Amino acid sequence: MKRTMKKNNQKNISLDSFILFIYTMKVQINSTCVWCGACAGVAWDFFKVEGIPAVVIKQPTNADEEKKCEEAKSVCPMGAIELIK
Ligand code: SF4
Repeated sequence: MKRTMKKNNQKNISLDSFILFIYTMKVQINSTCVWCGACAGVAWDFFKVEGIPAVVIKQPTNADEEKKCEEAKSVCPMGAIELIK
């Protein structure tokens, strides 16, 4: 059975999507990025380094992906990667 919720505008959204929205981490890069490429080196699925600052090309959607983004944060020399839970 598919679980759904109704929002005020009466559109159905998946309860699983709603839970994912609430509990997964959001990744962003702040202006201290120096374009070194270390983040993309360890998590190329999530970070792209074509300009300053680097950009997040995919948000993590499960624990393994969150771990990969945490690894990228740990190698960033500027502390430019912010993980928001
Ligand atoms: S590792 Fe940090 S400083 Fe280097 S490109 Fe990525 S976000 Fe920017």
